[in-house]
Amino acid sequence: MFEKLKDGLRIFGAFFFMMPQLTPNKLVIETLRVSEAKYRNLFEHIDQGVIYLDGAGVVIAANQAVEHIFGVSRDRVVGRKFLDTCFKAIKEDGSVFLEQQQPSVLALRTGKPVEGMVMGLFNVDRQSYTWVVVNSVPEFRQGEVRPYQILMTLTDITQQKLSEGKLSLASVIFNNIGEGIFVTDKDKKIVSVNDAFTAMTGFSYQDVHGKRAHFLQVKKNHLKVDEAVTEQGMGMNSWQGEVWRRHKNNKDFPSWTTVSEVKDSDGAVTHYVHVFMDITHFKKAQDHLGFLAYHDPLTKLPNRLLLKDRIDHSLQNAVREGSQAAVLFLDLDRFKNINDTYGHDVGDGLLMEVAKRIKNLVRKEDTFSRYAGDEFVVFMENIPDAKNPAKLARKLIGTFDAPVYIKGHRLKISTSVGISLFPQDGRDTETLIKNADVAMYRAKKEGRNNFQYYSPEMNHQAFEKMTIESALCQSIDQHELILYYQPQVCLKTGKLVGVESLVRWMHPTRGLMSPQQFIPIAEEIGFIVALGEWVLQNACMQMRRWLDQGFRVNKMVVNVSAVQFLRSDFVATVERILALSGLEPRYLELELAGGNFMDNSEQTIKALNQLVTAGIDLTIDDFGVGCFSFNNLKRIPVKKLKINSSFVVDVVNNAEDEDIARAVIALGHGLHLQVIAMGIESKAQQNRLSDLGCDEGQGYLYGYPVLPWSEVFQKMMKQ
Ligand code: C2E
Ligand code: MG
Repeated sequence: MFEKLKDGLRIFGAFFFMMPQLTPNKLVIETLRVSEAKYRNLFEHIDQGVIYLDGAGVVIAANQAVEHIFGVSRDRVVGRKFLDTCFKAIKEDGSVFLEQQQPSVLALRTGKPVEGMVMGLFNVDRQSYTWVVVNSVPEFRQGEVRPYQILMTLTDITQQKLSEGKLSLASVIFNNIGEGIFVTDKDKKIVSVNDAFTAMTGFSYQDVHGKRAHFLQVKKNHLKVDEAVTEQGMGMNSWQGEVWRRHKNNKDFPSWTTVSEVKDSDGAVTHYVHVFMDITHFKKAQDHLGFLAYHDPLTKLPNRLLLKDRIDHSLQNAVREGSQAAVLFLDLDRFKNINDTYGHDVGDGLLMEVAKRIKNLVRKEDTFSRYAGDEFVVFMENIPDAKNPAKLARKLIGTFDAPVYIKGHRLKISTSVGISLFPQDGRDTETLIKNADVAMYRAKKEGRNNFQYYSPEMNHQAFEKMTIESALCQSIDQHELILYYQPQVCLKTGKLVGVESLVRWMHPTRGLMSPQQFIPIAEEIGFIVALGEWVLQNACMQMRRWLDQGFRVNKMVVNVSAVQFLRSDFVATVERILALSGLEPRYLELELAGGNFMDNSEQTIKALNQLVTAGIDLTIDDFGVGCFSFNNLKRIPVKKLKINSSFVVDVVNNAEDEDIARAVIALGHGLHLQVIAMGIESKAQQNRLSDLGCDEGQGYLYGYPVLPWSEVFQKMMKQ
């Protein structure tokens, strides 16, 4: 085609430039006119640019297509050297064409045609390069060796170059993208893979070429891509889903795969492109999140969501089969105190240990879950009889007989358990758990470390307890707390040696409540800390007032609950209150609640020593009750022991009580401690205790707990 065109143009060129030199006759002239018109038409309207240059390389003619290529009118082209016609001409590698390299100059110089030279000619109009393939053909006059003119044709290949560019870009992306890609033909046979594919699957192109796409899938796929692709007909032109991929070394991995169709111009599928990424890490994270949604992160036990699910499901079976089930609700006794005292690390450690111990006791078919904070629930399905849960409850309680050691602390804990039964105590999960919780509260009220079966009247009591708790928390702000004071005397002289402060709560509807009714609740809900500070501050201020009024009294005795003095800020609180009330430490005596919660940790011993060093006296309250260890007594810098009133009541008539009183007094004196007896109501009790060597006494015999302005004090203090 190009050859034909070239010939035509050459003939046309010969006529075009030689015409004026011919001697015409009419026929020749007509023939020439027709021929010239034909070729001029061809010259003007052909797609290719055509340029004639003379022997000096100057453009003598250019067609319309040239205007389109250069983006300037022909006037700018004709009469100039080729390179001067455009602003810039570049090669494919982007370098600039020099004068001697350009095709017409080469053709002129060598006398040989230059064909297929690719040039980028700057188009002024579009401000971009027009890419052309240039052919430069020298033309000779007969007998001459130097060309007298050059015919140049310029074929615009800009579009072709652009798509070549796009293709090479696609190829760069194909080979450098992080996703694995493989392409199959319409029969799903693999025809191409990228580098990431090989890196991710271990398979090279040679390994998989010609194999069907499902060769790369693992059987455990939920959805086989093959099926998805054909069955869904790729209606959306693409399919996405999770596909387990085969790895050459058998380490299968999950991938997220997108399959897209490639169609020809008739809409028929020619290829499928599979793009996939390895989602192993994502799946792991997802699995972990799924686990967290249904498990407690600390103990790894099922959480309340999973528990509810399991109970819901199991109750459906129980209804069908007519079987019984039970919910056991466990709450650790005084866990909050441990958390507040030793910090959350120790609290967490304790919860993990609790989970471990209980796990060993429950059956495989039971669900053991951490319900919240220090609350655990065991769900027993298909139990043989109503007594069965009690057996487990006993084991659960018994497992805490042995102390728990966490971060060097020896913790003695116990648990209270409430039991509800299906179907009698509730026919749905919520009711069963709620009623087991109510029964657990009853167990706590009954002195903790035990279990209770639910009974309907408990609900009323649980409501009562909640009401009391919320009212108690407001008692300070509502000015409902009152301090009573009770004298303590020297048994030998009968003189006043101290005054014990005893708190009461003026409940808005129930009237005056004794500390035994609300102190345990305050301890349980943590309100004891605020209450204790209030008592300490008011007692110290009262003592200051009495001293200022000239009353002679040695000690203000203040009761301190274990929850208070096990707190790390206890010493600072006492010092702050003393400073605030202006009371010297030597006037203060703290009565520490004994019992089994007293620990002998370094921190506690250090705090108690700090108090003693400051001049404050310490007494162990209710000595002889609970499990206060002799070992602790040696290490704690106390000054006095208080004998519990239960041994005083029958000290005269009951030899055993007398023996205990004698033993406590001897023990105290052996450790160089003073001993005070509590609850002396009669002269006989006073005399017997005095004979046994008891140093001090307190009881109705000397005075009831009364308000500070009571006459008893006025009289006694003036003695
Ligand atoms: P406690 O420290 O052993 O206080 C002595 C209790 O015995 C007082 O009861 C008192 O009224 C009573 N009592 C005194 N003399 C006699 C007597 O001759 N016969 C009889 N039968 N009882 C007598 P109260 O005031 O009801 O206090 C009970 C317990 O409440 C106290 O026992 C103490 O452990 C606690 N408590 C009282 N006030 C506070 C306080 O401010 N903080 C703390 N943490 N506990 C307090
Ligand atoms: Mg006391």
